[in-house]
Amino acid sequence: MLRIGCHLSSSKGYLAMGKEAVKIGANTFQFFTRNPRGGKAKELNLSDVEAYLEFAEEHGIGQILAHAPYTLNACAKDAGLRQFAYDTMCDDLNRLKYIPEAMYNFHPGSHVGQGTEAGISFIADILNRIHEQRTTILLETMAGKGTEMGRSFEELAMIIDRVEDSSHLGVCLDTCHVFDGGYDIVHKLDKTLEEFDQVIGLNRLKAVHLNDSKNELGSHKDRHEKIGEGRIGIETFAAIVKHPKLKELPFYLETPNDLEGYQREIALLREKAQC
Ligand code: FE
Ligand code: FE
Ligand code: ZN
Repeated sequence: MLRIGCHLSSSKGYLAMGKEAVKIGANTFQFFTRNPRGGKAKELNLSDVEAYLEFAEEHGIGQILAHAPYTLNACAKDAGLRQFAYDTMCDDLNRLKYIPEAMYNFHPGSHVGQGTEAGISFIADILNRIHEQRTTILLETMAGKGTEMGRSFEELAMIIDRVEDSSHLGVCLDTCHVFDGGYDIVHKLDKTLEEFDQVIGLNRLKAVHLNDSKNELGSHKDRHEKIGEGRIGIETFAAIVKHPKLKELPFYLETPNDLEGYQREIALLREKAQC
């Protein structure tokens, strides 16, 4: 059965997200660990976590995906900002210990003019300092807006290669980002996956963000569109959810939608995947 869900608001806690997911036909979901622009996380409510875990078990919600605030910059110029990224990630990972199997996704960061090499070494440095290995940490493929890191499979591979023990590291492939980054998943999905396999290794691929793109191939823009309404198109999404190398992965929608819109997209993609 296709494992699919969407990004949900975490403001009402885990149980509320679980219920929302079930309501829209999802069997997984993604959420921000705290305000996406950063700031302090709400106190962890252990009775909510417990109620959620029971609910998830009953309703077949599998592995879920926590998303770090997107303003974290592990390769910022300012050492204080890098420390903040490290502290926040550690704090998030500590809280995620209570949710077995949850994975943690983050944007590698922006090198802000310091260059790719500096970016890679700062990000690897932070990952080397994180000793919490119970949670799988995912680096997200990025569109390459400005000085954004993770714009190519090579950049992600170079970061992972510099982490001493990378057994707990994986990659989350964002369809809008890779398309905007110049990977033609519309005409060359198999070739893109082969390239991913050669450069990073498909064994590292742990999740997929399903987003159509408002912009053309290689635009480096990162503007998500509803499934089937952008430049990627429904046929490519149908091929992705059915693909033998991808179909077992969890899929997350981050399209500009309300819950009903997500519900429709989940139903559409289930129909395309025939399960
Ligand atoms: Fe993201
Ligand atoms: Fe994404
Ligand atoms: Zn994006």
